[in-house]
Amino acid sequence: MEFQCIKECSQCCIEREYYPSKKFGKIGVLILPEEKERIEKLAVRKKLKIKILPRIGISHSKDEMPTEILAFQLMGIEESGNTCPFLDKESGNKSPHGGFPCKIYKERPLACSTYPLIESNPMTLDKKCKFCQEYGNADENLIGEIESLLKIKSRMNTNAKKVWRYATGIGEKEDRPTIQKGWFLE
Ligand code: SF4
Ligand code: SF4
Repeated sequence: MEFQCIKECSQCCIEREYYPSKKFGKIGVLILPEEKERIEKLAVRKKLKIKILPRIGISHSKDEMPTEILAFQLMGIEESGNTCPFLDKESGNKSPHGGFPCKIYKERPLACSTYPLIESNPMTLDKKCKFCQEYGNADENLIGEIESLLKIKSRMNTNAKKVWRYATGIGEKEDRPTIQKGWFLE
């Protein structure tokens, strides 16, 4: 089946999830280290305030903290952690499928060009994507997504002794007692 965004949907640019669990807080859009400066410059150009936190760090056996960041994350603008700062909800413009447009669509992070693909062999889409909720999986019209996913996977490959995950401390008000902030060893 061919993948097509659902008419007027902007769900993946708005709703952020707790990952891998509530303790780690809401995650942002994954940003590779080589993308960080470019995304920060785009925000300045668009006069937007953005928050980029670390996401995955690595270190060697005796280190007590990560010594290298493998991935960062672009946080949402709401207190709950939702809504990407680059989503244009105000201008009245629409994306090609009628949702809210992305202010940096042509220069968006690799992770955005990958979504909703989460695995290429076998081809697997994120079940939270509205298309998947309505139609199940798709296996066509995903060439760009596959290329982006493979690039991210190659950048995230590591044989470091320790892999760390950053808890963002961000989420819904009622969940805050559970949500942590800082580095945790995987
Ligand atoms: S990828 Fe899925 S969730 Fe995102 S806009 Fe398209 S249909 Fe909606
Ligand atoms: S950068 Fe653009 S495509 Fe990516 S989440 Fe934000 S608004 Fe959506």
